[in-house]
Amino acid sequence: MLLGDEVELNFDEHYFYLPDGVVFRKPSALLFSRSQASSRSGCCKACGGIGKKIAADFDEIIKKNTPLHDGFLDVPLTKSGRYVGFKFLPTGLSSLIKKQGIDTSKTFNGLSADAREMLLGILTNKLLSNHTDENTRQYLKETNCSACEGSGYSYQTRAVLVNGKSIDYFLNLTANELRSELSGMGLEKDELARLNDFLSVIDKLAIGHIGLNRPTSSISSGEAQRLKLLDVLMSNHSGKIIVLDEPSANLQYHDNLAILDAILKLKARDNCVIVVEHNPLYHNISDRILHVGPGAGAEGGYVKESFPTFLPTQQLAFHVKRPTAKVNASFTTLTLKPKRNVRLESIKIPGECFTAVVGSSGAGKSTLVLEMMYSSLIESKVPVVKLDSKPPGKSTASIVATYLEVFDDIRKEFSREATPYLTESDFSFNARGACPVCNGSGNEGGKPCGVCFGSRYKPDVLLTKVEGLSIVDVLQLNILDINTSKAFGFLSNVRRILDALSLAHITLGRATSSLSGGELQRLKLAKFILRHKRTLGKERAVVMLDEPSRGLDSTGVSQLYEVLLEYLAGLTVIAIEHNPEFIYRSTYIIDLGRAIGEKNQDNIVAGYLGDKDFPSLNYSLLSDEIKASKDSLQPIAFNAAKPGVPDAASEGRYFQFLPHLYIKQNNFDVERQFSNRFSIQKNDGNFRLFKSRDELQKAVGEACPLLFNPLVSHLEKFPKVPVSVFKAVTAEYKGRELYLSEDPWRMLVKAVSFDEAFLKGAGVVALPNGDFPGPATINYYGIRLFNLAERIVDGIQPDKYAFNLYRNACIYCKGYGHFKSYPFEKWIDKRFSPFDARMTPFGLNRVMPKATISHFAKEGLFDFSVPPSELTDDEYNILLYGFKAYKFQKPGKPGVVQDDFWEWRGLNSYVYHNAAKLSPREDLNTHLGWRECPFCARGFKKTVTQYVCDGKTIVSFLDS
Ligand SMILES: [Zn+2]
Ligand SMILES: [Zn+2]
Ligand SMILES: [Zn+2]
Repeated sequence: MLLGDEVELNFDEHYFYLPDGVVFRKPSALLFSRSQASSRSGCCKACGGIGKKIAADFDEIIKKNTPLHDGFLDVPLTKSGRYVGFKFLPTGLSSLIKKQGIDTSKTFNGLSADAREMLLGILTNKLLSNHTDENTRQYLKETNCSACEGSGYSYQTRAVLVNGKSIDYFLNLTANELRSELSGMGLEKDELARLNDFLSVIDKLAIGHIGLNRPTSSISSGEAQRLKLLDVLMSNHSGKIIVLDEPSANLQYHDNLAILDAILKLKARDNCVIVVEHNPLYHNISDRILHVGPGAGAEGGYVKESFPTFLPTQQLAFHVKRPTAKVNASFTTLTLKPKRNVRLESIKIPGECFTAVVGSSGAGKSTLVLEMMYSSLIESKVPVVKLDSKPPGKSTASIVATYLEVFDDIRKEFSREATPYLTESDFSFNARGACPVCNGSGNEGGKPCGVCFGSRYKPDVLLTKVEGLSIVDVLQLNILDINTSKAFGFLSNVRRILDALSLAHITLGRATSSLSGGELQRLKLAKFILRHKRTLGKERAVVMLDEPSRGLDSTGVSQLYEVLLEYLAGLTVIAIEHNPEFIYRSTYIIDLGRAIGEKNQDNIVAGYLGDKDFPSLNYSLLSDEIKASKDSLQPIAFNAAKPGVPDAASEGRYFQFLPHLYIKQNNFDVERQFSNRFSIQKNDGNFRLFKSRDELQKAVGEACPLLFNPLVSHLEKFPKVPVSVFKAVTAEYKGRELYLSEDPWRMLVKAVSFDEAFLKGAGVVALPNGDFPGPATINYYGIRLFNLAERIVDGIQPDKYAFNLYRNACIYCKGYGHFKSYPFEKWIDKRFSPFDARMTPFGLNRVMPKATISHFAKEGLFDFSVPPSELTDDEYNILLYGFKAYKFQKPGKPGVVQDDFWEWRGLNSYVYHNAAKLSPREDLNTHLGWRECPFCARGFKKTVTQYVCDGKTIVSFLDS
């Protein structure tokens, strides 16, 4: 027997090739799958389905005729005398080789084949173990797996042929190429029709050029968006809400037709399609337009509703011909190295004017401009600047001010004012100036930090003012509101250029990681202009832009163009663009056309705008096509039956715009009513709540003395204050006039100014009513609730955030109102403490974090030795679900990962993460079930029930 006695073969599933006994498998869907779900059935065994292997490349670096002990590697040495990338000392390497029994007096060529193999093995292993090193990687190269020729499929899978070709051949095609293969594949008629349909939708969506085996991680965001749209289109959804975020990004106008068509089809199937778009064509087909604005940033936040009428293309704003000044540019010819589908050997670009590179998504614009032209310019030593949309840094610490290189000057200005108390480093939220509660991140558990109100700074820093502004004001104000005539004079250019580039709404403190692609592109442009302002004209540089107009409306585009004209005149500007408002202002056009096929001298159209017919700019008939497809649809039933079909009265009305957790329009209203009209349910004669700091300050007037409780922000979290925090705070105010009882709720410090009282009291200012110290009562004034009698502090400004489920979500269930939990009521014997094995049937005490428990006990926050029968309900819930309000950074740990903290995560979490260990026989997770969150009111933090409107809380409103 060829296979031996032990092997059983099922002849229904396997085939034999008798001459050499190779076993094949009968084709089934499983055989063609490389996915985990089908146990990687079709994978190549040699590479595990990846198709690639990392191999070392020694050909160039081994001196084959040098004796091994004389340093046979042609590799430079590091400072410490080791081979770069290998980390071997030359002597160490030769003694290692010797140990393996290889004669080191021989040359590489003089070795036996076995010895050579062994030697290469030693070098390869060393490289692979250092593969994360940049220098090592130059010797490693990825090669196709030889067993499967890079396909990742097993020989059994690849042995199955359709029309003489195996599955990997087909996967290497693009969707468009696959279409031409279909007829020869012998498919059933229905199947053929279905596939043809499918592939034509792919083509229409302008993703037909993408290789079928291309990893989805490598495609552009526009392509990804359209790929998802394909999914939605083919799956026949109805009754769904489908949200598209700028589907036109990266799309030439013509390619939008398919998307528009797809949207209309989705609508016809009774879906609700919501599209975020600037493109006027999309406005054209919509039933209702919500303009979010009116301005950007702080000037936004409102929605205006309108109902569009259909405009033919000729009437769209961009179509208006603009006079283009005749120029006689001098052309430079760039020598190019062809790449991917762009097979061009050279290209001419006009000097000192604006060139727009246009064409469909996937036609090769980025390849041509950002890769081929860019490297050609670099090689010929022409100064060239590439401003793409790659983010400068992912860290949240990178803000606009640091990016524009003005933050140092700002901090210097403040430290000058505060000298000698505070230094420059105190004005940095990454360094000494960081808010101690949120460590300078500005938020905690998704809501603005209750101590610094999101400013990221410790209170002391904010007491220093320049021109009446604190450093937070400077970072948070619209730059147009900063007076740049005096101390902030160094900001005047920044201010002018940000404004001109429609970036004034971006505050200097905004994290660069939160900017959109278009904003980032323009911010890079701003930096470029600021840095090179004086020398720009002389440099004769080439500036490359990647869709600078993305995200701008028509006013924004024309402003952008004015800036480019003003600052970049005299330079050669090459912009990849899709926006006709921009394109029609350019002087010269390079059009790569549709995505399909190779691009070469014959099919790329280049010339002055107006001189030639550019296929990508041919808009005639475009809107007629859209109108035709819009008209061909039946009027939808949903629209007709809608009770509130748009009436004239609602047209143009502004609504307060709210974050999105409320689906019902009605609820927006409830939230707004509450924030306007709420009153406090607790009647506390000694506390007054104010809507803003200014109102509060006015009410306090010249009152003296002013006091504050430096522990307010900690009291919000739990009635107890951790011992270490209490000690630190009392130490900080040592020597100040301090009215301290052992009760942290009543601790008070005399403030030197209103600012200090407000900032250090975290928004709550205390005033003695009568003589102080003495038997006087204390009155509290605050912008957030503080109730001494009931010991309640709300961590949030009620009129701003409290009634918004997104901003005031419970930190345990994150606003859902429910979470998954085990049936602890059945499992826990409340007579035994958590340290006692008898508390649960499976001895949960074995996996409890001992260090955390002792730390929480030391802080006086929780006594874990008490049996649950003696705990209050709140304490019991904390035992089960954690102590989210406090975690303590372990000494010497950077505080980056979870393990850097002592954090009581709750029995629920410890069971979940140790389920297998706690109960090896039974799967505890089958007991997990949804349970109402005991910490909140319908997802809101419980403090929300402190406010009422017409005698009802927001929770009861939302319930009704
Ligand atoms: Zn392989
Ligand atoms: Zn903070
Ligand atoms: Zn909750």
